[in-house]
Amino acid sequence: MLNIILMGPPGAGKGTQATRIIDEFNLPHISTGDIFRENISKGTELGLKAKAIIERGDLVPDELTIDLVRSRLSQDDCAKGYLLDGFPRTIAQAEALKTMGPEIGRAVNLVVDITVPDEVLMERIAGRRVCPKCGASYNVNTMKPAKEGICDRCGAELIQRKDDNPESFKIRLDNYYAQTAPLVDFYKAEGLYHHFDGMIGLEKVSAEISELLKANQ
Ligand code: ADP
Ligand code: ZN
Repeated sequence: MLNIILMGPPGAGKGTQATRIIDEFNLPHISTGDIFRENISKGTELGLKAKAIIERGDLVPDELTIDLVRSRLSQDDCAKGYLLDGFPRTIAQAEALKTMGPEIGRAVNLVVDITVPDEVLMERIAGRRVCPKCGASYNVNTMKPAKEGICDRCGAELIQRKDDNPESFKIRLDNYYAQTAPLVDFYKAEGLYHHFDGMIGLEKVSAEISELLKANQ
């Protein structure tokens, strides 16, 4: 079973690898960031609560995020595996997932962490463009789409995220080290943790992750 958590600081290549994994292994992609952004663009109650927090680079409160993930993971399409991207981001979220996973028949069995040095992250985030429709990400310097400004995967127009500015990025990175990095030890202790070096190139990272997933299918 592939019940996967994908971890990594903003800019590590998580989004790109997520798109490849879901295409190759046919898993539902549960990106808490995408779900929040969708709620913001639709103006839902959750979106209204999350908008300012996300745009300044902070984390949405655990309670809201945990409820959201519980209801999404409970859906039928997650019964044969899932890729959880952007959750958990705090120890409290990881603890909640550890309890809820077995309860709803969705226990996590693999954690994939991709890391990249800070200097590189900033550069990647500054050039990042994303597809608001399918979540695919590109870079204006290093990973251009075939047609400028258009998503290769679904044809939608690419945008720059509001939190991909230097101020919000710094807050996101600080929060990452303070709140999310402790999950490495948490998942090592659970025996689920797998580390990937995000500097070896997209193709190589992708091949290594694919190998791990095939071995655990
Ligand atoms: P990135 O591409 O920077 O990793 P995401 O798209 O995963 O970012 O998430 C964007 C923003 O959504 C986060 O900076 C945070 O404000 C909010 N968010 C996403 N997932 C979570 C979570 N698990 N807990 C709290 N906030 C979250
Ligand atoms: Zn797209």
